[in-house]
Amino acid sequence: MRFADLLGQERNVRLLKAALVRDRVAHAYLLTGPPGSGKRSMAEVFAAALDCEARGPEWDGEPCGECRSCRKVAHGNHPDVQVIAPEGAHLKLEQMQELRRENARRPYEARYKVFIVDRAEAMTDEAANCLLQPLEEPPGPAVFLLLTAYPARILPTIASRCSILKMASLPEALIARALMEEGRPEEQARAAAALAGGSLGRAREVAGRWETLREEAREFYAAACRGDRVALLNRAAAWSKSREEAQERLELLEALYRQLLLEAGGSPPGVWRRVLGPAEDGGGLSLAGARTVLEAVMWAQRALSANAHRRLLLEVLFLEIARCHTGGDSLPGLAEEPA
Ligand SMILES: [Zn+2]
Repeated sequence: MRFADLLGQERNVRLLKAALVRDRVAHAYLLTGPPGSGKRSMAEVFAAALDCEARGPEWDGEPCGECRSCRKVAHGNHPDVQVIAPEGAHLKLEQMQELRRENARRPYEARYKVFIVDRAEAMTDEAANCLLQPLEEPPGPAVFLLLTAYPARILPTIASRCSILKMASLPEALIARALMEEGRPEEQARAAAALAGGSLGRAREVAGRWETLREEAREFYAAACRGDRVALLNRAAAWSKSREEAQERLELLEALYRQLLLEAGGSPPGVWRRVLGPAEDGGGLSLAGARTVLEAVMWAQRALSANAHRRLLLEVLFLEIARCHTGGDSLPGLAEEPA
């Protein structure tokens, strides 16, 4: 893999290449971005570039991909490029002690020793304090690449010693195009892109489960249109098994009702209309109703992040959605329908 293969990261790539070419690489970097945003790929390309043997006066910072060093990095067996990832839930003290011992040695064969610390937020406090010492040392032949989706969980003493690189989130259209180029059907590509939060890796993951998600969206929508409260309460139970699952389904509903709101406002039907099929159209959802649903979904997303009781939360939300589709009294405690 080369820098040129990293979709949508032009700005970060420019920064890194400029540092490589001028030989002004920072001692440590913190790469941040949601899961699937390409942090690991970026780190591996950067590691390859740091140790690429094709460096010369004309070099533009792109790893050649062909030299012995680049091939070893690609195969994950370069002795000077190490990936440290959590064993179980945490990055443990022993792992950082090993990193420190390794850091004290000269590079075996390459110019730089590169330490990629994946899911750096999983460091225990002891592990983080152990990593602090090598980060505080004057820059030498070692470069540290810390990756995290949760920068707020990184100790400030660690973060302040790193150059921060935030992975760019990709526009929906770019993600959809990339998925189509990988051979995925248009409907699937567009819907997955809409659910991916700017992350190509996440979009691929959603696309892989698209048949299931589509079926669930259809069934949910049909039940909401019919005002079928039993089906909706069953759905609430099924979707509240884990926080991640609840979060994902709320994102699904957000994307779906955002589209329905646009439609109710006169926009042409989008990808969700094709997913849901024309038959369920109507369902009593007015412009104001669609807006209320969307507000309620976003309210539920916030409540979920604040650790609300998942199942109860989804039950209240789904009954409110059914009410918006079929008319009826609002449940207490939810936003009133705008006039
Ligand atoms: Zn090379």
